[in-house]
Amino acid sequence: MSYTEPKVWFRFMFFRGNEKKYLNECIDTTFVSSVGKFVDRFEEMMIEYTGTQKAVVCVNGTNALHMAMLLVGVEREDEVITQALTFIATCNAISYIGAHPVFIDVDKDTMGLSPDAMEAWLKENAEIKGESCYNRRTGRRIKACVPMHTFGHPVHLDKLVEVCNRYHIELIEDAAESLGSFYKGKHTGTFGKIGAISFNGNKTITTGGGGMLLFQDETLGKFAKHLTTQAKVPHRWEFVHDHIGYNYRMPNINAALGCAQLEEIDHILANKRETAEKYKQFFSDKENIHFFTEPEGSKSNYWLNAVLLNDKEEQLKFLEYTNDHAVMTRPIWELMNRLPMFKDCETDGLQNTVWFADRVVNIPSSVRI
Ligand SMILES: *Cc1c(COP(=O)(O)O)cnc(C)c1O
Repeated sequence: MSYTEPKVWFRFMFFRGNEKKYLNECIDTTFVSSVGKFVDRFEEMMIEYTGTQKAVVCVNGTNALHMAMLLVGVEREDEVITQALTFIATCNAISYIGAHPVFIDVDKDTMGLSPDAMEAWLKENAEIKGESCYNRRTGRRIKACVPMHTFGHPVHLDKLVEVCNRYHIELIEDAAESLGSFYKGKHTGTFGKIGAISFNGNKTITTGGGGMLLFQDETLGKFAKHLTTQAKVPHRWEFVHDHIGYNYRMPNINAALGCAQLEEIDHILANKRETAEKYKQFFSDKENIHFFTEPEGSKSNYWLNAVLLNDKEEQLKFLEYTNDHAVMTRPIWELMNRLPMFKDCETDGLQNTVWFADRVVNIPSSVRI
């Protein structure tokens, strides 16, 4: 097997603003850890940018999702509806609670959880008892739903919110990939009870590693801050804790990087949009390769660009050709229901999901300097 060192990489990190300045400030003042002004500033900046009511930093996007499950009240043996076409972290967070994912199909125009498919599955399988929704076959409570805005393309949120409300299901948005993506003019991650964002090195902006929770309910947000900081009761010298808390707080040094990065977000998004425009033009006359564009009514951040090939065979050929020619390309994640941990989870057949898995290839999407 030969290996061609890529010349065009998937590379996401992009520093040209106040990153060094703010990091130096952390070192000069010794505030590199859990105390410091950048944590609060980063949260305030994110509130302003996303239009959410309350924002709480976390160590990464995965534990932001874990925290979101706890906060909406997902419990052991509950079921949580999500998509099989996602990054593993979504399902891991469900599993940390001891809950079970149920995989529902995605829409052809968003690559994210389909509210129509979910409604159809619920009609067939769910019943409402009191204020809760139950799976008739397993007897388990269906407590939450976690759509994921795949590659930054928003799912159909209006309909999803409506279906969740009707069935008493809590909506958590996995907005890890969609910072800078808007649905009907409103930022993704602000439609559900909680939205989870990631600032990992490969995301729209980075804090090295990091995540954030977005809340519409300020009281819930305040409680999240309490739980992510060891649930310590504020006191000048006593160490008293009133819940089983978590050490999920983002250090100041990471938040400093986040502040500098968020200052640059408009530039980053404009650059990504320009790249997507160029791809769209380039692929417009290629009959066998289709460039995936943002759904109608949404503004995508075009975090990760994707093309669709005609079938699995052509997908493989395209992967081989590009990687042989020093252009890094990758297929979509292995579907969650095909992984050993989730192979027995319930699905609705996943027709579109499998269609995408056989066709999607991600192509380089770096911010060009
Ligand atoms: C990146 C990502 C996460 C997790 O974020 P981390 O910060 O890496 O823990 C969760 N869900 C999706 C869909 C992601 O792409």
